Amino acid sequence: MLGNLLNLFYPNLCVSCNQSLVQTERYLCLGCLIKLPETKDHLMKENGVEKTLWGRIPFERAFSFLYFNQKGITQKLLHELKYKGNEELAHFLGELYAEKIRKTVENHGINAILAIPLHKNKLAKRGYNQSLAFANGISQTLQLEDLSEYVERMKFTDTQTKKSRADRWTNVHSVFTIHNQNCFENKHVLVVDDVITTGATIESCANEIAKLAKCRISVASIAFAA
Ligand SMILES: [Zn+2]
Repeated sequence: MLGNLLNLFYPNLCVSCNQSLVQTERYLCLGCLIKLPETKDHLMKENGVEKTLWGRIPFERAFSFLYFNQKGITQKLLHELKYKGNEELAHFLGELYAEKIRKTVENHGINAILAIPLHKNKLAKRGYNQSLAFANGISQTLQLEDLSEYVERMKFTDTQTKKSRADRWTNVHSVFTIHNQNCFENKHVLVVDDVITTGATIESCANEIAKLAKCRISVASIAFAA
């Protein structure tokens, strides 16, 4: 009875392989969970994400949870987040990642979090911000102060797939507005995005914060597309 009741609230199929989940599993079966292509970036300085961002923003650490691989588990997860509106899955991935990065977060004194906002038109279209749901999973598990509401994305940006790196940078430059810079003062803020590819969005947002407040910045994302 209780199991049936829980099935109403928790999806009972693995989002990756579609096999039935046992009661202790959530969203992913154990087999898929251990096959997640984790970067383990947080354990390595000079990892791929950090190299991508070097010299572009003043950051302390940068790390992604998963490698993005075509037709792999990460792509299935992102598809689930983006096109099926699976907000709870994004939150769950945040909780999962929080436990992995707990020591790194503590060692670096990271005490606040900021999810890269979507423009309100895009938010209305998609229904939720997957970066924010992922960030909430992290902040609630690790007790980080959530500063996400103080940043707004002003301009709608087009899909960026076919533009050069320079174009992309111009495209997202200065599109973020910080509403309460005092909240950022003397914090160590983990800036969170869904996928890091060129790093242009992170660069734009982090530089806007760094310009206004005396704070430290680190970066995290669900996936890294090298
Ligand atoms: Zn599975």
